[in-house]
Amino acid sequence: MKEEEKFQIRPIISPSDKEFKNKVGAEAWEKIKSKTFRDNNFKCQGCGFEPYDVPAEKVLDVHLVIENENDPIDSEFRTTCVLCHVIEHADAAISQGYVALVNSKFSQGELVNICRNGALSSHVEDGDIRYLRKTLPEFLEELKDGRSLEGKVKFVFTEKYLKKLGINS
Ligand SMILES: [Zn+2]
Ligand SMILES: [Zn+2]
Repeated sequence: MKEEEKFQIRPIISPSDKEFKNKVGAEAWEKIKSKTFRDNNFKCQGCGFEPYDVPAEKVLDVHLVIENENDPIDSEFRTTCVLCHVIEHADAAISQGYVALVNSKFSQGELVNICRNGALSSHVEDGDIRYLRKTLPEFLEELKDGRSLEGKVKFVFTEKYLKKLGINS
């Protein structure tokens, strides 16, 4: 089992990192960030992405997984790349049109790498990645109600979002 497969990104609604950051303050957040990066060996826990020619802070984020209300500093955090972080906040990603729903044999981490490498359209042509008929607002409602089929529905990035990042799909 590859390291990145231990953790599977699933579309859920995550707590806001920004609100958390405001709560603990900039200084504590910086400490949390460097500790989380170190703990995760400067590697995205969703897709395995490791920056090699750019500073980690530029391309990696820290995602608040579960907040410890009694001791926020001791909450659960995870290192993610920018793309996986978008998926962690599925509700926002959907409402901003950054992602589309698919069925695929690929894991979510693999799908992220396919998008990053500009290979999305060729996999769609081959039928390895199939867009779902369900609309994003329908799925968002299911997410809110907890009715979504966890792990069965996966995300790819929309052309609009990939263009924004400078990636040709
Ligand atoms: Zn990633
Ligand atoms: Zn986050």
